[in-house]
Amino acid sequence: MPALLGKTRAQAISGFKVFDSLIPTRFEMIVISLFYIFIVIIHAVHSKGVANDPIYGSAYMAEIRYSADRTGIVATFMMPLLFLFAGRNNFLQWVTGINYSTFLCYHRHIARIMFMLVVIHSVNYTILLVQKHGLAVRMAQPWLYWGVLATVAGGIILIQSILYLRRNWYELFVLVHIVMAVLYVVGTWIHIVEFGYGTYLYPTIAVWSFDRLVRICRLLYFGFPEVNVKLVGDETIKMCIPKPKHWKIIPGGHAFVHFIKPTYFWQSHPFTFTNCSDQGEDKIVMYMKVKGGVTHSLYKLLNKSPGKMTTMRIGIEGPYGESTPAKYSDKAVFIAGGNGIPGIYSEVADIALKSTSERKSVLKLVWIIRDYSSLFWFHDELVRLKNTNIETTIYVTKTDKNFDNMNEFISENSKEGSVKSSEVEKSESLQTTDAVEQLKEELSHVCFEEGRPNIEQIIQDEIKESSGSISFVACGHPVMVDEVRYYSCKNIDNAEKKRVDFYEQLQIWA
Ligand SMILES: Cc1cc2nc3c(=O)[nH]c(=O)nc-3n(C[C@H](O)[C@H](O)[C@H](O)COP(=O)(O)OP(=O)(O)OC[C@H]3O[C@@H](n4cnc5c(N)ncnc54)[C@H](O)[C@@H]3O)c2cc1C
Repeated sequence: MPALLGKTRAQAISGFKVFDSLIPTRFEMIVISLFYIFIVIIHAVHSKGVANDPIYGSAYMAEIRYSADRTGIVATFMMPLLFLFAGRNNFLQWVTGINYSTFLCYHRHIARIMFMLVVIHSVNYTILLVQKHGLAVRMAQPWLYWGVLATVAGGIILIQSILYLRRNWYELFVLVHIVMAVLYVVGTWIHIVEFGYGTYLYPTIAVWSFDRLVRICRLLYFGFPEVNVKLVGDETIKMCIPKPKHWKIIPGGHAFVHFIKPTYFWQSHPFTFTNCSDQGEDKIVMYMKVKGGVTHSLYKLLNKSPGKMTTMRIGIEGPYGESTPAKYSDKAVFIAGGNGIPGIYSEVADIALKSTSERKSVLKLVWIIRDYSSLFWFHDELVRLKNTNIETTIYVTKTDKNFDNMNEFISENSKEGSVKSSEVEKSESLQTTDAVEQLKEELSHVCFEEGRPNIEQIIQDEIKESSGSISFVACGHPVMVDEVRYYSCKNIDNAEKKRVDFYEQLQIWA
């Protein structure tokens, strides 16, 4: 549960931008460290050469050969794990419930270890071949130059996977990653097949193919519906998507979206979904914050469209993810910041819906937003909380600017009148009176607080007020999620000995 040191976990640690990196949690770090130790031990034991070795000439050259072979074999042996952990359909994830971003963290460390082993393997064999004066001859043979090519591909993968490149050129990162990974597998195959090690690659190819196959099946099963895509608020896009009858909704889960447009249909982006029922039809709803890539292209398209709305064919691959075990606590406090609300809402609403008189947790929802207009896009869901046992508090942090922003938002929406969505109608009526007061009246079941929340205080108070165990679930800005994690951990050892759990819904891998 705790970050490795201090608060930083969801936030990247700074390394002059280019070397910024994500750091594992304390638990992940223990697992990774044990793995590094294990790898060092298995390469260090029983590898002593004998003096005047009859085959290699000396103990030193014998040891060079032993470690060359061992590193090469172990590196190949690790490949299935590397590919399995990178896949969206990883059966170990299904069994353990560990989230995808943790598996990706392990994937990165396995890759680093593997590459180090491959480099040792290459250097050692170069020494051996030079000693035998056989390097030039062998370099002309496919098994060797393909081995060299695979090593170079592995090196390129390592460099192009740094967080800075993932963050700034995600699609390019994915493309180069896949091309280089194919080259690595093909190169390794040609390098080892003659020596009888080809079967080592079967599980690698199997897990990779399995993942791709399941991804295609998931896409086909959902179909490619035409959906309404709408700009709601300054920087949020909403999509209401009809779903197949048996498509399972995972509260807090996510799915990957392909927008079927010539310039970006091949990209797939993860978005959390909530569910809603529209005229008897089951739908999922996604809210997408406008960033700099495909979401920005959509934003530009919607800005030009009448009513800031358009229809578009999309592909959905999912569902992925899992609900947290917060439902088992006596009290569950869900804390969201900004656009982190959909998954948090979906989970808390689901627990409330499934509560029975025998098993009824106390449920709290805390949402931190910048200004009042920031809640407009999620208005319908907030209204729906009215008939639940969820105690909702919304913190509005910028009270000075909020009213202007909201009026600006309202008038912008009401200017173009071609499509009268519920949001626009709402905004027109709100404009006539004190908009904020009317909003508060409409959401009378929600408690509004103005100013920044004191996360430390909230956590202490919630623990004190809880009748027993308590869970905190957070999603939103990484700084906020790190704060919730930090103070939850600090209070594990609370005076009343109440069990405190923390779950992050935020998953970051880029
Ligand atoms: C599990 C999960 C659930 C998410 N749910 C939501 C949600 O409900 N609403 C929401 O607004 N955002 C959500 N996001 C973030 C969302 O996926 C990105 O904002 C979106 O992909 C950005 O697209 P872009 O091309 O406009 O981004 P860019 O401007 O190109 O990139 C912005 C950031 O998004 C990252 N990113 C870009 N593409 C991907 C990708 N395919 N996979 C992962 N990260 C990517 C980049 O590395 C960068 O850090 C979620 C992310 C994850 C991992």
